[in-house]
Amino acid sequence: MMPAATALADAHRAFRDELLRHGLLISLGVDGLYGRSGAFEHVIERINAAISAIGDPDRPEIMRFPPGIGKWQLEKSGYMRKFPQLAGTVYSFFGSDREHRALIEMLDKGGDRTVGQEMTEVALTPAACYGVYPTVAARGRLSDDGAVVDVYAFCFRNEPSIDPARMQMFRQREHVRIGTHEQTVVFRDLWMSRGRALVESFGLPCDVAAATDPFFGRAGKLLATQQREEHLKFELLVPITSKEEPTACVSFNYHRDLFGRAWSIETAAGEPAHSACVGFGVERIALALFKHHGFAFKDWPRDVRDVLGL
Ligand code: ZN
Repeated sequence: MMPAATALADAHRAFRDELLRHGLLISLGVDGLYGRSGAFEHVIERINAAISAIGDPDRPEIMRFPPGIGKWQLEKSGYMRKFPQLAGTVYSFFGSDREHRALIEMLDKGGDRTVGQEMTEVALTPAACYGVYPTVAARGRLSDDGAVVDVYAFCFRNEPSIDPARMQMFRQREHVRIGTHEQTVVFRDLWMSRGRALVESFGLPCDVAAATDPFFGRAGKLLATQQREEHLKFELLVPITSKEEPTACVSFNYHRDLFGRAWSIETAAGEPAHSACVGFGVERIALALFKHHGFAFKDWPRDVRDVLGL
């Protein structure tokens, strides 16, 4: 490892250990998988309330999904083609009684635990908005106003890390716009200024930069270049453990008609719908707050506590 990478890994480990020591996160013995304390959850609730205060005037439809979606939805959305390395699918035991006995023997011996395991119909939610598109599509053609949805869900990404800001299971609070090209671009630009203003009001340093998704393999490099050139994705970056490698705490995504075509969502004029979403990584924002203002929110600056109602 390069010295810089080692220093970064040390900073991640030190911050994670502090969070565990202060009891804000609870270790589950797997990198990137944590329980949360009451104080941590209180901050998460207040961040969500601040996002609601900004988004509610748009009168979004509220949808809440479990941390799983149908495996068929994951495939139909195109996720398995682009990000197979991040996807999570749920397995369970489908064997007979005889195979069950064989499994127990195997477990007693510390052997292969995957005996009789087969994929279920459930996949872990990769991004909060993935449940929205099939739901809106099932309603038929959009009205002139399109759709605005407020969605919140636990998401999963297969990327174990000691960086506490890179959890494997985390929550995304999103607002999603589905409609014409113009409606979705206006929405994304509006949320870019709203998102920055919100994070600045939390007393956090931040910057907005063009970004790309972590596409897989050689074909992925091409997709990433394309995404950056077409300004499809922006991220609001906040330094948490490193100034040089700040953490994306909010993402602003314009999908063009990708989901409109995948799910056959039509605008009022019968065209494939465009979509955009803004996703707040609420744990990352909470971690940035704890890092910058201290491990006890009672000690945070008065104006930050006022904004959050803490
Ligand atoms: Zn989204």
